[in-house]
Amino acid sequence: MPTVAIIGGGFSGTVTAVQLLRRAAAPLRVVLIEQSGRFARGLAYGTAHPAHLLNVPAGNMSALADAPDDFVDFCRRSGDAVQPHDFVARGRYGDYLEALLQAAATANPASVLERVSGCAVDLLPPSPQAVVRLADGRQLACDAVVLAFGHGAPRSVLPPQAHALLGERCIDNPWHEPQRISRLPSDARVLLIGAGLTALDMLNSLDASGHRGAIEMLSRRGLPLQSHRAGGAHRSDVNAAALMADIGCSVRQGVRVLRTAIDVAETQGGDWRDVIAALRPHTPGWWQRLPGGERRRFLRHLQPCWDVLRHRCAPVSLAALQRLQATGQLLQHAGRVEGVVPAEWDAIEVALRLRGHSGLQVRRFDAVINCTGPDSRLQNSRSPLVNRLLERGWLCPDALGLGLQSDDGHRPVDNRGRTQPWLRYLGPWLKARDWEAVAVPELRQHAAQVASEVLAASNAGATPEVGRPTRRLGS
Ligand SMILES: Cc1cc2nc3c(=O)[nH]c(=O)nc-3n(C[C@H](O)[C@H](O)[C@H](O)COP(=O)(O)OP(=O)(O)OC[C@H]3O[C@@H](n4cnc5c(N)ncnc54)[C@H](O)[C@@H]3O)c2cc1C
Repeated sequence: MPTVAIIGGGFSGTVTAVQLLRRAAAPLRVVLIEQSGRFARGLAYGTAHPAHLLNVPAGNMSALADAPDDFVDFCRRSGDAVQPHDFVARGRYGDYLEALLQAAATANPASVLERVSGCAVDLLPPSPQAVVRLADGRQLACDAVVLAFGHGAPRSVLPPQAHALLGERCIDNPWHEPQRISRLPSDARVLLIGAGLTALDMLNSLDASGHRGAIEMLSRRGLPLQSHRAGGAHRSDVNAAALMADIGCSVRQGVRVLRTAIDVAETQGGDWRDVIAALRPHTPGWWQRLPGGERRRFLRHLQPCWDVLRHRCAPVSLAALQRLQATGQLLQHAGRVEGVVPAEWDAIEVALRLRGHSGLQVRRFDAVINCTGPDSRLQNSRSPLVNRLLERGWLCPDALGLGLQSDDGHRPVDNRGRTQPWLRYLGPWLKARDWEAVAVPELRQHAAQVASEVLAASNAGATPEVGRPTRRLGS
């Protein structure tokens, strides 16, 4: 029976396993390897905090592209009267993924799903089978490997003295040890570095625990978070294909076209959300056509604004933030940290260079949380597996630091421009290739495609050929 090893049992790995089990016409062994011991959760859906909500409406969160109501149906079967425009707790979504995985395994008795708790640290090429090595010395022989190891840890943004002075109240990776957030004194003055969805999660956690201390949120541009429209439905009629044709391969032209399209949407009773949402399915093709210089221009000038408009949050989460702002407990700044010095009583003084102010502003904090989000640069990865594959040359970062180079069959492109036919990748580092690749609506399609590609190779009895030169996407 052919064996497919999937490294990483978060969203991408779990849904790939589900798709393999659903689509396999012949018996198949699927081995899902997960370092945390918790399957079907990953970084996004491992949280049990009820205030951590999905940032996509339930009606667009099916893990199965061909069954759009699957998540809403799951919630309703479980007794929750969820509507497609509702925003459900992310932990509940983890329950859904777990149920989906279990159901796929049960529905295909000819195939086998094995869950292996362990950390993959190396791969050996087929001879005749590929081998996955785990940190504890176990080895798994397999015919195909799917890399689904998720996000890089956030880049450390604080000087070492902040850690030395604040100890466990200096939180570099807020997802890693959420209990450190809940242990903060309720009157602590907290600095959140970053003002996106991670900062919102932290804010919602603090708020839910009755935090009373002042909270300040710092980001380079200080752009305010945006929420989805309550009630959901699109009201304007955006012709996205025509817009993409007008935009062509010019970022500057894109800004002009979008401004006009937003004006039109507003006259039709809609708003900018309709335009941004309509572009989404067209974005990967556009990004792949965009010349390198234009990609750089987009990243330099537009990315912060795009991120805010595109990665919207649940209206109720934003309402909590706005309530804290209205009471003065939360301040939001545009600027950056210039330095950190000790202050009395276990606190630190942070020198901030704020936009629109001359000189430095010094503020006192008892805790700092790094909310800058995952680091997409492979070279900064702390994963032994990623580092090993970089050393072997099997993974290559893209030139813009968005992820890794891969071809249109999800095969990583190595440092000699070749692919390994037994090795595939899916996950957020597809952003290098597609730009739009980090959320469920895209990743569920990639998972279905990867499953088809792996099965096609195994059904055809394709023995691993020597890597062939290939077109580099995302380079
Ligand atoms: C906080 C957060 C909230 C999000 N909310 C939403 C949302 O509401 N809606 C939406 O559409 N998208 C959301 N996203 C985006 C998207 O759904 C996730 O990024 C997606 O879950 C990525 O899935 P993944 O499997 O690639 O990574 P993950 O789900 O993080 O899974 C990777 C898994 O691989 C394991 N792993 C890593 N290395 C190894 C190794 N060497 N050996 C074994 N196991 C390993 C990790 O432990 C982890 O469990 C969110 C993302 C984040 C970070």
